Amino acid sequence: MRIRIADTQAQEAAVVADTLRRAHLADGVPWGQMAVLVRSAQRQVPALKRALGAAGVPVTVAGDELPLPDEPGVRPLLTLLRCALWPERLDEETAAELLTGPLGQTDSLGLRKLRRALDGTSLREALIDPRPLNLVSDRIAAPARRVATLLEVTAKAIADGGSAEDVLWAAWDASGLAARWERSAGNDPAADRDLDAVLALFEAAARFTDDLPPGSPRLFLESVAGLEIAGDTLATQAVREDCVRVLTAHRAKGLEWDVVVVAGLQEEVWPDLRLRGSLLGADELAEAAALGGDGVPASDVAAAAVAARQLAEERRLFYVAVTRARRLLVVTASGGDEQDKRPSRFLAELAGEDVEIERESAATRWLSMPALVADLRRTAADVTRPRPLRQAAARQLARLAEARVRGADPADWYALTTLSDASPVVAAGERVRLSPSHVETFTRCGLRWLLESAVGAGRPDVLQHLGTVIHAAAQLIAEGATEQAVAARIDDIWHHLDFGSVWYGSRQRELAERMVRKFLDWHQANRRELLATEQSLKVRVGQVEITGRVDRLERDEDGRGVIIDLKTGGTAPREDELDRHPQLGVYQLAVLLGAFERLGVIEPGGAELVQVGKAALSARARIQHQRALVEDPDPGWAQGLVDAVAAGMAGPLYRARVNPGCRTCPVISCCPAQPDGAQVGD
Ligand code: SF4
Repeated sequence: MRIRIADTQAQEAAVVADTLRRAHLADGVPWGQMAVLVRSAQRQVPALKRALGAAGVPVTVAGDELPLPDEPGVRPLLTLLRCALWPERLDEETAAELLTGPLGQTDSLGLRKLRRALDGTSLREALIDPRPLNLVSDRIAAPARRVATLLEVTAKAIADGGSAEDVLWAAWDASGLAARWERSAGNDPAADRDLDAVLALFEAAARFTDDLPPGSPRLFLESVAGLEIAGDTLATQAVREDCVRVLTAHRAKGLEWDVVVVAGLQEEVWPDLRLRGSLLGADELAEAAALGGDGVPASDVAAAAVAARQLAEERRLFYVAVTRARRLLVVTASGGDEQDKRPSRFLAELAGEDVEIERESAATRWLSMPALVADLRRTAADVTRPRPLRQAAARQLARLAEARVRGADPADWYALTTLSDASPVVAAGERVRLSPSHVETFTRCGLRWLLESAVGAGRPDVLQHLGTVIHAAAQLIAEGATEQAVAARIDDIWHHLDFGSVWYGSRQRELAERMVRKFLDWHQANRRELLATEQSLKVRVGQVEITGRVDRLERDEDGRGVIIDLKTGGTAPREDELDRHPQLGVYQLAVLLGAFERLGVIEPGGAELVQVGKAALSARARIQHQRALVEDPDPGWAQGLVDAVAAGMAGPLYRARVNPGCRTCPVISCCPAQPDGAQVGD
C-alpha cells in the first residue's frame, strides 16, 4: 500500500495516471484489472475521467456514475420540459442551449447566422412564436423550427393532462433522436450511453407516476432536478475489459481488482458530513427535533448525533474502498495545512505507525506521453542547455512526430501556429449584446471576460449560493415580509445548498442572517419610492443592445429613476472610483435610453451599491452612491464606455490586464500575463 499526497488536484491526477500506467507498462497488469475509486460521482468523476483520458489511460465510467440530470442525453429533454412548463424560463441562454444541443442540431456558427437573419427578434421569441422564421431561409431556420415544434408538442401534452412519462414520450417521439442514436449505437459509445440515460429517465418517470399518481410533470421535474445521485435503474453498461474503471466506492462493494487507486481523499469530501439530499435531510432534521434533554439545546444534541453517525458511515465506506485491491492499493489526496484543501483525516488513520505518507514533489517525472513530450520540448527550446542535449531532444521529438504523437510536431505548438481566423468575432454591422456587469468585467480584463462569458470557463462558487439567497431575501423584504418570515424561508432551503462542510455552512448561515438584518434596516430607512425589484431591461443604442436586470428600481423626490445594486461580497470599489463605476454608469444610461419608460422614469437620478457583505465594514449597510449622469461634468462618459467596450468585445484582440481580481480569477492557469500560464502566450 502507498499513500501519496500531491500539491494540487492536477498533480494528484498525474499521480493516479502515473500509478496506472506504471502498473500496466512495467508490471503487465491489464487495464481491465485496475480501478479508481472516489467518494462522489458528481464532484470527482468528470474531472478525473478527463485527466486520465488526457494522460493516455483508457477509462470507462459506469453509466450510473453521473447524476441523471447531468447526463448529456437527458439534459436537453429536461430543459425542453422545463421551458414548456414555465415559458418565462426560456431565456436567450437556454434557447441557445436547446438550439445547439441534439434537439436543435446546430452549432455556434449556425446560431450566429440565425441571430443575424432574425434581425431584431430574439431566439427566445422565435422559439415561442415561430412566425418570424418564415422570413428566414429554410436551411438557417431549420434548427429553430425543430425546437419550436418540440416545445409546442411538449406544451400540448402537458395541457392534455399527460403524466410525466406521457409528456416525455411525446417530446422524445417527436425529436427523432431514437432512430438517430440507434443508428450510431454500437460504434459510438456516447450514443450508447445517451440511449441508456434516456431509458433510465423513462423508468424514473414511470416509477414516479406509479408512486405519485397522476405523475405531475412539474413535480417530476423538481424531483429529478434535485437528484445528487444517479437513477438506480440507469442501465449498467457492459464493463469494458480493456479500460480502467472509474467508479464510486458505493458501487465498488463486492468487486475486486489487482490495482486500486482510491483518489480525492480530501477533508470535507471524504468524510462527507453534509446532510444528504432533501429526503434524508428531512428525516435527519425530524430526528433532530426529537432529541435533546439535560438542558442542552435539542438542535446541538441532534447535530452531534447525526455527525457522529455520518462519520461512522463514511469510515465504513472508506474501509470498503481500501479493501478492494488484490495486489496494490494506492491512496491519493492533494493540498496541505497551509492550503484551502486538506487531506482527509482517514489518511493518517490508514497509515498508522507503519506506512509512510509520501509527499509528491514538483520535480517528479511522470510516466506519460504528454509529460515526455513536454520534457523534450522544454529541453529542445532551452538555449541554456548544452547543444548536443538539445539536438538529442529535437531528434526524439522528430521520431515522436513521425509516429503522430500529439504535441510533438512543432506545427501543433501554440506559439508557432497561425491564427485560424483573424477576423473580429462580431462582424461589422452585426449587433453586440452586453450587460452592465459584463461591461465591468470587460473593463477590468478583456481576456477574463472572453473566457468566462463567451467560452464559459467560470467556476461554480459557494459564495454564489449565498448571494442568490440574499437577493431572494431582499425581494421578500421588498414585498413586505418580516425578518422572522425571511429567516424561516432561508431555513427551509438552507440544507439544499452545498457549502462543502457543515461548519462552513453554519458560518455562512450566520453571515446570511447579518446581511438580511443590514438590508432590512436600510430598506426601512429608505425614503425613495420602490418601483420594481428584479426588473429586466433591454435597450438598443446603435449597434449595441444592453440587456440585464436591476435589483431595485426606485423613484426619488424629483421623479428620477435610481438604480440599486445589492452587493454581498467582501470587496467594494474605492469612493473616488464611484463616479466612473462602469456597471452603475451603464444602468443609468439604460434609464436615460428609456429602458424603464413603462414604469414612468426616463431620467436617471444616480445609482447605488448597497453593500451588505463584509465590504459594509460595520453592522450597517454601506451605501456607495454614483451621482446622476446629468450632474457629471462629462455626462456622455457612460455612452462612450459602452461604445468602447462594444468595439472591444467584437474582437479580435482580447487583452489580459493584471488587476486586483487576478487573485481569484478562474482562468489564471491559462493567462499569459501570469507565471502559471505564461507558456500559453510565449
Ligand atoms: Fe485577466 Fe488577471 Fe485573469 Fe489574467 S489572471 S485573465 S490578467 S483577470
